[in-house]
Amino acid sequence: MTNEELWKAVLGEMELSLSRANFTTWFKNTSILSRDKNCVLVSVPNGFIKEWLENKFNRKILDSIRTLTPEIREIRYAIGRPKIELLKQDFSKIIMDNEIEEKSDAAQDADVDKQTNLNKKYTFESFVVGSNNELAHAAALRVTRELGKLYNPLFLYGGVGLGKTHLLQAIGNKVSNENKDKKVLYISAERLTADIVESIGNKTIEDLKNRYSKLDLLMIDDVQFIAGKVKTQDIVFSTFNELYGKNKQILLSSDRPPQAIPALEERLKSRFQGGMIADVGIPDFETRLAILKMKVSEKGASLEEDILSYVATHIQKNVRELEGALNRVVAFSQIYNKVPDLKEVKNILNAYLNTPYRKTSPQVILRSVADFYSISSNDLLKRSRKKEVVKPRQVAMFLLREETKLSFPEIGQKLGGRDHSTVIHACEKIRGETSMDENLKQELVLIKERVYNSFEK
Ligand code: ADP
Ligand code: MG
Repeated sequence: MTNEELWKAVLGEMELSLSRANFTTWFKNTSILSRDKNCVLVSVPNGFIKEWLENKFNRKILDSIRTLTPEIREIRYAIGRPKIELLKQDFSKIIMDNEIEEKSDAAQDADVDKQTNLNKKYTFESFVVGSNNELAHAAALRVTRELGKLYNPLFLYGGVGLGKTHLLQAIGNKVSNENKDKKVLYISAERLTADIVESIGNKTIEDLKNRYSKLDLLMIDDVQFIAGKVKTQDIVFSTFNELYGKNKQILLSSDRPPQAIPALEERLKSRFQGGMIADVGIPDFETRLAILKMKVSEKGASLEEDILSYVATHIQKNVRELEGALNRVVAFSQIYNKVPDLKEVKNILNAYLNTPYRKTSPQVILRSVADFYSISSNDLLKRSRKKEVVKPRQVAMFLLREETKLSFPEIGQKLGGRDHSTVIHACEKIRGETSMDENLKQELVLIKERVYNSFEK
C-alpha cells in the first residue's frame, strides 16, 4: 500500500467522526511524508496543528493506521510546507469550534445549497424505514403534503446518529423540489445562535428577524442548544409565533423531548409541545441490515450478505457508526482490490470496536454528565445542595459505578472527597428510580451515548 493510499484511508475514517469544520481544520494539508518499518512521519502545515494532532488525535490516528498496517508502532509529526501563520483570532475560533460538539455537519458540506442549507443527499428515498423511526417518518412525509396545516411544529427527538437531521433535510428537500417558490431554511441551533450573536453585534438583528419571518418552512436542528441562551430563545420565540400565526411550517429536532431540555424557557417548551412529537430510536437488526444495503449501493460497491449481517450484528446503537464500519470494510476492499472474507471483516471490526474511544474515563463521564445537565464539571465536585446539581451528581456517581471499575470510595474521592456511603446511597437511589422513571432512564441512555461518542479521552 502506498503512503498516499494509507493516509487516504485514515482521513476517510477521521472524517466520519468529526464535524466537517473540525476535520478540515485539523487534517487539511496533511500527508504521510515517509514511512519505515515501525514509524510513520506525518507532515502538518503548522505547529499549532502538530500539537493538536499529537495531543488529541494521535491514538485514533495510530489505531486507524494499524488496522491496515499493524506493524506501525509510532507516528511522528513534522511541520512541512509552512503556510501563512494563522491570525490570533482564528486560533481562538478554531479552539471554540473544536470544543463545541458538532456532529451534524450537514450544513457544512461542500454540496450544500447556499440558500437553504440543504444537502441533496438526504432524501426520503435514501432513508430506510424501520420500527424505530416509523412514526417520525410518517409524520415527516405528511408534513410535506400538508405544510403548516397539520403537525405544527413537528418535533423529532432521539439519540446521536439516528437520522434526525436526515429526516429534517428530507422534508426540506422534498418541499423545495416540489415547489421552487417556497422559502425553506435549514439551520442548526448552534449556527442560529452564532448568527444571532453576530447580528446583534452588527446591529442587523431586525434584518435577521425579517428574513426568518418570510419563510414557509423553518427547520431548527438540535434545538436543545439554545437552552440557557436568553437572546436566542427570545428571537426563536418571536419567530415561532410569527410563523405559526401565518400557518408556516416549523420543524425542530433535539436529543430529547421538549419538557426534558433543561434551561429551556417554559414558553418555548409549551410551544414546542404544541404540535406533533415523534421519537427516533435505535434500529433493530433488520433495519440495520437494510440501511447497510442502502449505503453499499449508494457507494456503488457490493458486499456479501454474511458480511453485512456481521456488521449489522456488531454495531447496534448508532447509524453513523454503522456507516463508519461499512466505510472501513469498503476502504479495505478498495485498497487491497478484493472483497474481504469474513475473517478479515472480523479483524477490521475488532479494531473498530476495541479502539480506546469505545472505553471511557471518569473525566469523560463527569464532563458528559455536566454538559448534559448544562452545569460545569466543577459544580459536580462542590458541596452545593442545590437541586440543579444534586441529581446530576448522583447520576455521575451511578455512571461512574456502572461504566468504570472504580470502587465506592474512589468515586467519592473523584467527586470532591465525599464519603463512600453517600456514593452507595446515590447509586441505589438512581438505580431504584430508573425502574419507575422513564425520563430518567432516557436521560441515562443519552448521557451514555455522549460518553461513548465523545472524542477526546
Ligand atoms: P442525527 O441527526 O440523529 O444525529 P443523522 O441524521 O446525522 O443523525 O444520521 C447519521 C447518519 O446515518 C447519516 O449519514 C444518515 O444518512 C444515516 N442514517 C440514519 N438513519 C438512517 C436511515 N433510517 N436510513 C438511512 N440512513 C440513515
Ligand atoms: Mg443531527
